[in-house]
Amino acid sequence: MPPLIIVGAGQAAAQLVASLAQDGYSGPVTLLGDEPHLPYQRPPLSKKYLAGELALDRLYVKPAAFYEKAGVDLRLGTRVERIDRPGKAVILADGTALPYSTLVLATGSRPRRLALPGSELDGVFYLRTVADVDAIRGRFADARSLVVVGGGYIGLELAAVATKHGLQVTVLEQVPRLMARGVGPVVSAFYESLHRSEGVRLVTGAKVLGFEGKDRVTAVVAEDGVHPADLAVVGVGALPNVELAAAAGLKVENGIVVDAECRTDDPAIYAIGDCTKQVHALTGQPLRLESVHNALEQGRVAAAAICGRPPPTLQVPWFWSDQYDVKLQMVGLSQGHDQAVVRGDPGSGRSFAVFYLREGQLIAVDAVNRAPEFMLSKQLIADRARPDPAKLADERVAVKDLRS
Ligand SMILES: Cc1cc2nc3c(=O)[nH]c(=O)nc-3n(C[C@H](O)[C@H](O)[C@H](O)COP(=O)(O)OP(=O)(O)OC[C@H]3O[C@@H](n4cnc5c(N)ncnc54)[C@H](O)[C@@H]3O)c2cc1C
Repeated sequence: MPPLIIVGAGQAAAQLVASLAQDGYSGPVTLLGDEPHLPYQRPPLSKKYLAGELALDRLYVKPAAFYEKAGVDLRLGTRVERIDRPGKAVILADGTALPYSTLVLATGSRPRRLALPGSELDGVFYLRTVADVDAIRGRFADARSLVVVGGGYIGLELAAVATKHGLQVTVLEQVPRLMARGVGPVVSAFYESLHRSEGVRLVTGAKVLGFEGKDRVTAVVAEDGVHPADLAVVGVGALPNVELAAAAGLKVENGIVVDAECRTDDPAIYAIGDCTKQVHALTGQPLRLESVHNALEQGRVAAAAICGRPPPTLQVPWFWSDQYDVKLQMVGLSQGHDQAVVRGDPGSGRSFAVFYLREGQLIAVDAVNRAPEFMLSKQLIADRARPDPAKLADERVAVKDLRS
């Protein structure tokens, strides 16, 4: 029998391999990844790895021995160029056709690139891979100023690390508040003052027009003025890697469309992780989630479906971001909330939580250095709990008593 082929050797793929083994999959598995590394965790790239506090081998999801033991034919530095659906094969750059019995696309996403004057200059970087971070960190030594284009979580984590490293950092964000896609206004305002207090220059509502420099970037030009930059990093969102799927005629809508079992509209092809779009069990809405939690969950779901096992119980989606000594943990999906309740004082410390409710039901929480609230909320959201807003806001009520 031809192998099960996984295209893309990232977080989702590593979980799929582990879950297939746990679920008793006995057929051959081939894992094809275009990067030269074993599947690795990206979150530390903009955090401890960038800060030089973690070695590369600590990023690996599993050691090489794990794939050997699982009998996986692991081919790194190998890019799939095309899917031949009628022939049930993937085609590599050198024309080799590898037949599959089942195909899983785990191709992830890539940074959205700016097509602005000067954006191809040396010294303008994006941050997605180990290679990107190695290159950025290599420039830290002789750079004094860094301009970060984009005030999302990746840009802000980078700003925090670079500031601690001694660089003068400017963050240019086009919309009026930071991390606007992920958190509510109270949390955005907190992060704005946090970064300012750490010495970051922050400009919101700043439209970037281009990059200046002869051979190398020297400034970022925005509507509000010219910002000197020895180094510029762009973090303006990600695009799903859907091209293989689209060219093969699979259904793609800003993500490879998959059903609840992560199957595409071709029953022999699954897709998992950042590259997918799936109707979410919590909201009933089609969503493309870019998170480790989603990659892990879809890896498990696809493995169960492939092995003919019952689907695993789904958890409420969650996400985190580390900036300075502040851990932000987000759980649930806050879109559509009609009430936001703040517990703690965002103005006077580095610890508070915001609870988002819709028609009385808790749907999401942003917890800033508040692990207990985060942990409880995971459960409350899963239980569709309707906690008392007055209690949520009252610090005298213990976290364990917030349930109703
Ligand atoms: C800097 C950074 C910080 C992050 N921080 C957090 C965080 O704090 N918390 C969180 O939850 N999430 C975070 N994320 C997001 C998280 O890392 C992703 O959601 C996760 O990696 C998705 O896993 P994946 O397997 O879908 O994709 P990836 O891990 O990106 O893996 C996909 C792999 O497929 C390869 N590939 C693509 N096309 C082909 C092809 N044709 N042939 C062969 N290989 C191919 C890609 O090169 C890549 O190696 C962060 C991401 C970045 C970049």
